Amino acid sequence: MQGIIFDIKHYAIHDGPGIRQTIFFKGCPLGCWWCHNPESRSPEIFSYQKEEKLDQLKIQSRETIGRQYSVPELMTEVLKDQVLFEESGGGVTISGGEPLMQFDFLMDFLKACKNQDIHSCLDTTALTDTSRMQQIIPWVDLFLIDVKQVDDQKHTKYTGVSNEKILENIRMLDQNDQDIWFRYPLIPGMNDDEADLLRMMAFLKSLKKQHPISILPYHKIGSQKYDRFGIDYKMDGIEEPTEKKLSQTQQYFENAGFEVKIGG
Ligand code: SF4
Repeated sequence: MQGIIFDIKHYAIHDGPGIRQTIFFKGCPLGCWWCHNPESRSPEIFSYQKEEKLDQLKIQSRETIGRQYSVPELMTEVLKDQVLFEESGGGVTISGGEPLMQFDFLMDFLKACKNQDIHSCLDTTALTDTSRMQQIIPWVDLFLIDVKQVDDQKHTKYTGVSNEKILENIRMLDQNDQDIWFRYPLIPGMNDDEADLLRMMAFLKSLKKQHPISILPYHKIGSQKYDRFGIDYKMDGIEEPTEKKLSQTQQYFENAGFEVKIGG
């Protein structure tokens, strides 16, 4: 069986504990307006005409997004960093896109990591069948889950999908005593007003355990990619959150007893 991977990042320090190798699976069922990896959404490998400027010269080349890997091939890549994982308490982070879209390949890969005693984080939207989420539990050490918006209408507007299944899966993981590290992408005008924060707080407090939260400030990195890949860009005029807004949001959750940090 082969999986489609669109990037591999070595020495990542924001995607879980210790030093990590982050592997980006291609394909995502969401279409977040702020996505900085729009090339990850399609589950297919594709090529595009890349144009770069060197002084007055325009250089064109063909670039391919996505590559097929077998599990043994991916493990060869992973094992290159094994010493770093051991020294730093790190491991592999599986991100995307949405890794659960390649469920069978993901399962095989997670099992191969477990066999080698490599710590695994699954960076997921939690949008999948609950039965699949249950099957994956024994093979994941830490879930990194984006909670983008608790109001379903707003979630649907800004990501293209309902959050009903996402919230159900989060509750299920929490009920099953899974380690979760929430990631809250803070997007001005889309999920950062007082009512948004109140709803988010109420949901997180309704869980059995108080899981840590990382606030991920919206940034414009990646906006040029929309033009490049011919995808509609909807974030014109949206500014990055101010330092003040970030620290106020951090304080808000800290006051309620959550462990919070800004950044991944
Ligand atoms: S879930 Fe992540 S990868 Fe998918 S569209 Fe949203 S930001 Fe992009």
